[in-house]
Amino acid sequence: MGNDFRYIDENLERIRYNIAEACAKYRTADEKVRLMAVTKTVSVEAINHAVFQGVDLLGENRVQEYQSKCAGYNKSAEVQFIGSLQTNKVKYIINSVSMIQSVDSIRLAMEINRLAKANNKVMDILCEVNIGDEDSKGGIKAGDTYDFLSEIACLENIRVKGLMTIPPPWESDVHLGNMQELFENVKSKSIHGVDMEILSMGMSGDYAQAIRYGSTLVRIGSGLFGARNYNK
Ligand SMILES: *Cc1c(COP(=O)(O)O)cnc(C)c1O
Repeated sequence: MGNDFRYIDENLERIRYNIAEACAKYRTADEKVRLMAVTKTVSVEAINHAVFQGVDLLGENRVQEYQSKCAGYNKSAEVQFIGSLQTNKVKYIINSVSMIQSVDSIRLAMEINRLAKANNKVMDILCEVNIGDEDSKGGIKAGDTYDFLSEIACLENIRVKGLMTIPPPWESDVHLGNMQELFENVKSKSIHGVDMEILSMGMSGDYAQAIRYGSTLVRIGSGLFGARNYNK
């Protein structure tokens, strides 16, 4: 490999340090936070370098981009889908990702369930919550979470594992705190067939704060791979 990926090594070292520090400060010793490397616009070589350095979870946003790159991926990392997903695209990822984090409609949940069943599997999913109630973002309204989960809990070929959110960058603490409260609240209601194990929250700009507010999985793109260049 002629590429110089030292910047990835340095970023990864810093991110791991920051995660460990936030965990030591805010969480109990048995609570683990998982790091996902978000791959949008990143080259296969850079992604595989991160995997070589121990990153074991990749996050994909776009079906087409993923399809064009995945053959080159080092297969030792798990891949999860985190981008907005049209129902007619589920078929392209159903057999290659281990979780779909961005489920925000009954229709999408039903299509994932249908295709999972057709492929003899149970697909893990997260329900995406639009915690800042922003028009520009996907996700269900926070107030609809309980009803939404109760409604999809009966689908036998999907398994709800928790919640995911992309909070607005402003008043970050308020939104992260609201999300933690929602997560704990839904968890305490123990909906039959719904596991509340994963709170996917925190990106390059706010992951330490997200860990403070109960995140169990942080999704980091630019902080690891550098600023995204969409013209490449
Ligand atoms: C791009 C993206 C991220 C990572 O964002 P960075 O700020 O680059 O770390 C995380 N989650 C989702 C859903 C994304 O689309």
